[in-house]
Amino acid sequence: MGFENNNGGKVETSSFMRDFIDKCGGYAVHLDYLDAGANIIITASYQATIEGFEAKGYSREEAESALRRSVQVACEARQIYKDRCTKYSSHFITNNNATYIKRPILVAASVGSYGAYLADGSEYRGDYGEQVTVDTLKDFHRGRLRILADSAPDLIAFETIPNKLEAMAYAELLEEEGIEIPAWFSFSCKDEGSVVSGDSILECASIADTCKKVAAIGVNCTAPKYVQTLIASISKVTTKPVLVYPNSGETYDGESKQWEKSSGVGEEEEDFVSYISKWRDAGASLFGGCCRTTPYTIRSITKALSGKCSVADNRCYIE
Ligand SMILES: [Zn+2]
Repeated sequence: MGFENNNGGKVETSSFMRDFIDKCGGYAVHLDYLDAGANIIITASYQATIEGFEAKGYSREEAESALRRSVQVACEARQIYKDRCTKYSSHFITNNNATYIKRPILVAASVGSYGAYLADGSEYRGDYGEQVTVDTLKDFHRGRLRILADSAPDLIAFETIPNKLEAMAYAELLEEEGIEIPAWFSFSCKDEGSVVSGDSILECASIADTCKKVAAIGVNCTAPKYVQTLIASISKVTTKPVLVYPNSGETYDGESKQWEKSSGVGEEEEDFVSYISKWRDAGASLFGGCCRTTPYTIRSITKALSGKCSVADNRCYIE
């Protein structure tokens, strides 16, 4: 797959692909996070599904290309960053506010929930209705998972999991498809003890723990104020590394499709980064930001953890 050839040759990349890459921010977004110190960058495939592309009138082939391309873009961004590290310094230099530090960088292929495809806010509620079973979810995710795994990312990130049903579906799929790439399961929680559907985080994390393919378990897209207790709960049922990449503390309104500040609580205004050391002390090993966080958040996390831990002791920073 190449970019448009203006020399009369075959045009290999359709406008569809260019549009998709542009919408994903191309390399720029990944590079912003790498410049900020991220060790793991997550592909822009969270809401990209074969069914979703087909509903927009694209062919299955185009949809599959877009998924593959999301992994390629992240891998290429990593290579660009590594080349810059080599060019600017053997270890560390700051140029235009970018930090170049040679370090391990992993590419995680994002798999969003069935609710993310529905885009009706159900990813934030986890209520798929009685007609949706484990088999429905496995059928929905199977094709995309296969394509993403075949694109050779370092990790597969099952993100914003809203209920235990979807966790069970992912665990069964990883086994059935013989996926050898390590995965993480990350749940979206509505309070200190439950994922957004109301299922217990203990139950959800236990499902993830029993799956041999799962390398880390945690929470994302969750208000920072709940995370410390959630880490303690997850740690009760697993010895796998715990990851946390909460949102900014604002809540998403599925109807208006907008983020809104929670009223009268206060904690969400507390600086996200002030929580980092508490999460580390509670036992989390991987840290990052989800919705409404920015490269600035990652830069602050990097700073907050610098000197206190490193990749060597299994602590990383997620995009
Ligand atoms: Zn999010």
